[in-house]
Amino acid sequence: MTLRRKTLMTVGMVFMGLLIILYFISQTILMRSFTQLEEQRTRQNVEQALNALSNDIITMKTVSSDWAAWDDTYAFIEDVNQNYIQTNLVTGTFTELRLNFMLFINSSGQMVYSKAFDLHSEKEMAVPRNLLSYLATSNLMVSHSDPQSIITGIVLLPENPMLIVSYPILTSEEKGPIRGTLIIGRYLDASEIERLAEQTRLSLTIHRYDYSSIPSEFQAVLPSLSEKTPVLVRPLDEQSIAGYALIRDVYNKPILLLRVDMPRDIYAQGQDTVAYFILSLLVVSVVLGVVMMLFLDKQVLFRLTQLSQGIGNIGVSGDLSVRLPETGEDELSNLGGTINVMVEILEQSSNMLKGKNELLDAQNKDLWNEITERKQIEHDLVERMKELQVFYGVTRIAEKPGITLDELSQEVVNILPASWQYPEVTCARIAINGKEFETENYRDTEWKQSSDIKLHGEKIGIVEVSYLGKRPEIYEGPFLKEERRLIDAVAARLGRITESKRAEEALQESEERYRDLFENANDLIQSVTLDGRFGYVNKEWREMLGYSKEEVASLRLWDIIHPDCIPHCRELFQKVLSGEAVNNIEAVFVAKDGKLITVEGNVNYRSEGGKVISTRGIFRNVTERKQMERQLQERNEQLISQQQELIEKTEEVERANRLKSEFLANMSHELRTPLNVIIGFSQLMADEVPGKINEEQRQCLSDVSDSSQHLLNLINGVLDLSRIESGKVELQLGNVALTEVIASLTKTMMSILAPREQSLDIEVEGGLPPVRADEGKLRQVLLNLVDNSSKFTPDEGKLKIEAVRDGDLCRVSVIDNGIGINEEDQERIFEPFCRLDNPLARKRGGTGLGLALVKQIVEQYGGQIWVESEQGKGSRFTFTVPLSTNG
Ligand code: ADP
Repeated sequence: MTLRRKTLMTVGMVFMGLLIILYFISQTILMRSFTQLEEQRTRQNVEQALNALSNDIITMKTVSSDWAAWDDTYAFIEDVNQNYIQTNLVTGTFTELRLNFMLFINSSGQMVYSKAFDLHSEKEMAVPRNLLSYLATSNLMVSHSDPQSIITGIVLLPENPMLIVSYPILTSEEKGPIRGTLIIGRYLDASEIERLAEQTRLSLTIHRYDYSSIPSEFQAVLPSLSEKTPVLVRPLDEQSIAGYALIRDVYNKPILLLRVDMPRDIYAQGQDTVAYFILSLLVVSVVLGVVMMLFLDKQVLFRLTQLSQGIGNIGVSGDLSVRLPETGEDELSNLGGTINVMVEILEQSSNMLKGKNELLDAQNKDLWNEITERKQIEHDLVERMKELQVFYGVTRIAEKPGITLDELSQEVVNILPASWQYPEVTCARIAINGKEFETENYRDTEWKQSSDIKLHGEKIGIVEVSYLGKRPEIYEGPFLKEERRLIDAVAARLGRITESKRAEEALQESEERYRDLFENANDLIQSVTLDGRFGYVNKEWREMLGYSKEEVASLRLWDIIHPDCIPHCRELFQKVLSGEAVNNIEAVFVAKDGKLITVEGNVNYRSEGGKVISTRGIFRNVTERKQMERQLQERNEQLISQQQELIEKTEEVERANRLKSEFLANMSHELRTPLNVIIGFSQLMADEVPGKINEEQRQCLSDVSDSSQHLLNLINGVLDLSRIESGKVELQLGNVALTEVIASLTKTMMSILAPREQSLDIEVEGGLPPVRADEGKLRQVLLNLVDNSSKFTPDEGKLKIEAVRDGDLCRVSVIDNGIGINEEDQERIFEPFCRLDNPLARKRGGTGLGLALVKQIVEQYGGQIWVESEQGKGSRFTFTVPLSTNG
C-alpha cells in the first residue's frame, strides 16, 4: 500500500472517528441539554398551568373574602333578607364571577341560602346533590372556628371536579363572631379547562385520579408521581412531549392528573442543530482533508517519492557517488541532506568494506590454505603417531643401559612389523656391521622395501621389511608412502644410534686415555676441594712431592705451599672460588723431604649449578728452568753491556770510516794533480815535443802513461766512492725520461761497442712515466753497467737494455751473453776492489770500484741493485729507480 493511500486512509479514518465521536458527544451533550431544556420548559408549563389553577382559586378566595367579610352578608346570614338576594345574588354575579354556586351556611350548620348556576346555559339550577352530600361529610368546609381558617382547593365530585372556597362570614372589618360559612364553587369542567388552556396558551388535559379509568399513557406515569416528584416529564413521541402533575384536594389527597402537551420544537431544534453541526463538521473535515492531502501530496508525498526514487536509483545503480536534491529548508530537505550524508558515509563504508572484503578474501584464501595444510598435517600426524611409536620403541631400546649395538638391532627388528599395515604378515631384517638380525618369521619375498643405514654418508647396513604374501598395490607398490618414509627414518635413526654408540665407545676410550694421560703426565695435576683438601693428584705430583696416595688424603693445600707464597696463593685461591680462572701462577711447593719445588701453572674451577665445587690446577716443575733463566738473565745482562760496547765501537768505526773517506778524498785530490802532470808530460814526451825518443823510450813512456791513467782512474773511483760514503755528494733529483737518457748515451755506448762489433738492443715499456733520479748519476750507472757487459762479453756479443714498470718503480736491466759470474761471486762483486779472475778481466783491466760505486748511487736514491747470472751464459744486472709520482 502506498504512503499516499495510507495517509489518505489514516486521515479519513481519523476524521471519521472524530466525526463519530463528535456526533456521539454532540448527541449526548447537546441533545441532553436540549432535552433538559425541553423538560425544563415542559415543567415550567406544567407549573404555569398549576399556577393558573391556583390563580383561579386565589381569585375565587378574593371573591369569597369580598362576600363573606361583608356586613351585608353578616346580616343576611341572620336575617336572610330578600333585598340582599335580589341585589347581590343575581345572574350577573354568577356569570361575572363565573361561579357555579354560592352556599350560605349559618354557624349552626344550616344552609340559609344556596344558589347554583349553569354557566353554559346561564340559567339557575339546583344545587348538585353530590356537593351537598360531600359538604355533609366535610365538617371542615362547613364550620370555621377561626376567622382565618379559610379553606380553598379542589374537591372531586362524581360529575366534575370543582374549585371551592369556604370562607367564615365576618363583618366588613373581618371580625367575628363567625356567623356562618360562605362556600363558593366553580366546576373545573371542559370549558374551564379550555379557558385555562387559552389563558396559559397551553394544551391542557385533566383526568381523574382513578387508575382504572385513565388512559394507558397516564397510567404509565402514575407510579412515578409523588409528593417528592410532583411534576414529571415524558416525551410522547418524536413530535410531542407531556408534563404531568398531580392535583390534590383540600385534604391533600390526589384527585386529578394534569397533563400539559407540548410540541417538541426545542428537541427538534436540538436535532437540527446537531445535524447542522455534524454536517458543517463533515464539510470542514472534507475541506481540511482535501487541503491536507494536497499539502501532503505536494510538500511531503511528492518529495518523499522523489527521495524514494533517488534512493531506489542509487540502490539499483549501486552508484554511491549520486546525491539526492536538497531543496528548501524543511525536515524533508534535512532528510535529503541526512540521506546524502548517510550515502556519503555509505560510500566511504562501502569503499572501506570493499577494501576489507578484499582483505577478507585474501585472509579467507590464507585460511583455506591453512585449513588444507592443517588437514594434511592431521593426516600426517596420524601417520607420524605410528612412526613415533616406532621411534619411541627404538629410543627406549637405545636408552637401555649397557645395551650393545647387536642387542639393540635385534630388539629393533622385532618391533618393526607392528607399524606396518599388515603386521601379521610382515617380517623384518637388519643387516649392520656385517651381522644380520631377523624376525622369527623372516623370509625373503619379492614384496619388500629397504633403506640403507649410513654413517657419515657411507653405507654400513640395511633395514628391510617384507610382506610374506602379495598385498594390494597402493601408490606404486604394496607399501604406504608413510611406510617408506618410516623405513628410511628407522635406517637413519639406526645410523645415528650406531654413531652415538661408537662415539660413546670413543668417549670411554678417550676418558681412559685422558685418565692415563693425566696419571702419566709430566706435569703436576691436582684438584682441591673448597676446604683445601686434595681430591685428586696425579702420579708425577705424588712422586715429585714424595707423598703416597694415603698421605695425600690427609694433606691440606697449605701443607705443601712455601710459607712465603701462602698469602699470595690464598688470594688466588679465593679468586678461583669466586669463579675466575687464574693463569700463569708461580708458586713454591715444599716436598715431604723439605725440597723446594718451583712450579708454574694454571688453576680453574669446576662448578655445578653455577656454584664452584672444586679447583683444578696443572703445574709444571720449573725449578731447573728458573735456574737457567736466572743464568740467562745474567748472560743477557752481560750481552747488553757487550752490545753497548759494540755500539760505541761501531760509532767509532763509522767515525774512523768517515775520517778515512775524508782523508781519501783529500788524498785523491792531492794525488790527481801530480798524476795529471805525469800523464801530460808522458804524452808530451811521446809526441817528441822535448826531443826525439827511441822505440824503447816510447814503450817506457807508454807504460808510464797507462799506469798513471790506471792510477788516476783508481783515484777517481776511490774519490767518488768516498765522497758518496762520506755523504758529500748530494743528488740533484728531478723527473727524468729514461728513453731520453738512453738515447743521449747511445753514441758513447756505441763507441765502446763498435770496435768489438757488439750489438745493443734497447727495449723500454711503452708509456713508461719519467723516473725520479739524478740524471747525471743515472747516466753514470747505465754507462758503467753497459761498459762492464761489453768488457765481459766476447767480440760480436749481444747486449740489451730493458726497462719495465714494477708498481711505482722502474726496473732497468743491462743484459749480456758474456762470460757470466758464478753464484758465490755474485754478492761479492758489489764490494769495492773486487775483481774476478778471468781472461777477459785480465785483458780489459779495471779498478774493481765500478759496481761498488753503482750500488752506492742506486741505494742513495732509494733503489736496489742485484745480479742474475750463469757462468758462460751471460749476466743480467738490474737496478730499480722510483717512478715520478707527478708524471
Ligand atoms: P772492474 O770492471 O773495474 O774490474 P767492477 O767493479 O766494475 O770493476 O767489476 C768488478 C768485477 O765484476 C769485474 O772485475 C768482473 O770480474 C765482474 N764483472 C762485472 N761485470 C761483469 C759482467 N757483465 N760479466 C762478467 N763479470 C762481470
